[in-house]
Amino acid sequence: MKTDIKSMYESELADMLAKMGEPKYRAAQVFKWLQSGVKSFDEMTNISKNLRQKLVQNCHISSAAIEKKLISAYDDTEKYLFSFADGEMVESVLMKYHHGYTSCISTQVGCKMGCTFCATGKSGFARNLTASEMLSQLQSEQQDNNIRISNIVLMGMGEPLDNFDNVIRFLKLVSNENGMNIGMRHISLSTCGLVPRIYELADMKLQLTLSVSLHAPNDQIRSRTMPVNRKYNIGQLLEACRYYAKSTGRRISFEYAMIDGVNDSDACAKELGERLKGMLAHVNLIPVNSVSGTGYKKSKRERMQRFINILSGSGITATVRRTLGSDINASCGQLRRSAADERMKKGEIS
Ligand code: SAH
Ligand code: SF4
Repeated sequence: MKTDIKSMYESELADMLAKMGEPKYRAAQVFKWLQSGVKSFDEMTNISKNLRQKLVQNCHISSAAIEKKLISAYDDTEKYLFSFADGEMVESVLMKYHHGYTSCISTQVGCKMGCTFCATGKSGFARNLTASEMLSQLQSEQQDNNIRISNIVLMGMGEPLDNFDNVIRFLKLVSNENGMNIGMRHISLSTCGLVPRIYELADMKLQLTLSVSLHAPNDQIRSRTMPVNRKYNIGQLLEACRYYAKSTGRRISFEYAMIDGVNDSDACAKELGERLKGMLAHVNLIPVNSVSGTGYKKSKRERMQRFINILSGSGITATVRRTLGSDINASCGQLRRSAADERMKKGEIS
């Protein structure tokens, strides 16, 4: 097994290179090359041929190859299907805002959490992504468009807090000033609510924005749509969120997918307002994306507006999240699913 060199911190590279008899400053050079997205050691032009050969023998540079790319006809949103060395695939979405480019990346191939409205949840779990595979999604998008990404959201496939160590490693690498240098304040992490991990993250005091996928005002509804709620209920989750907001001073962003007739009634809005009262919070309402086989439909515009009005009566600000690339987006997990279906038809995978 060759070493996954792009997942290494500069200090770890320094230790490895020292063992190869290299001077200290080499680590900074190699780190910069890797974080800039080179795909081979030969591109490291200020490194001796001899060292490059040693690195080729011992290490590999992971990359995210573009399998498919969809461009929205409505805006500049681009959706990518990437494949890694072992053939596993994930999705990522690149969005253009007035303040720059935001990339939504995946943290796992699939997901174990099984939310009933989610295409990723429906396809099961294959494996965790490494830190370098998360970086590679960003690097491929930058190279493909000749741009710099300024914001990141961990809202693609997978549950980031279920791949905690690799995600933390990724966050430290991507925010490193000798690397992509994207500050924590420009990064959001979305979780379905793995309570112990939220405490752990809070104690690290990173200046990340935490997004919590709430999607229901009470345990009865939430446990039906999000199995994770049977392990960590809303009371426990909101307590962890309060702790996060207090320890980091950061406002929590609650995601709420509006599903027609499931979680969008006036009573739901009132209950949600009561539960979030007094919290440093913002609610993002998202019309649920219909995923085949779920039977869920998005709430009507008027219903969403009414929901917002009721929440604001409790002092909670809520907005409807702008849906970019709605023609190509469906929801994360769908592109991979359809690619898998195509390959299955061709008999490539079973
Ligand atoms: N696992 C993490 C992050 C990835 S999912 C989480 O659940 O938060 C990213 C966001 O998309 C989450 O808020 C999730 O609830 C939401 N989502 C999943 N399927 C959706 C759908 N069909 N319609 C709208 N939002 C959806
Ligand atoms: Fe996993 Fe998030 Fe989808 Fe739930 S919504 S199945 S946690 S990716």
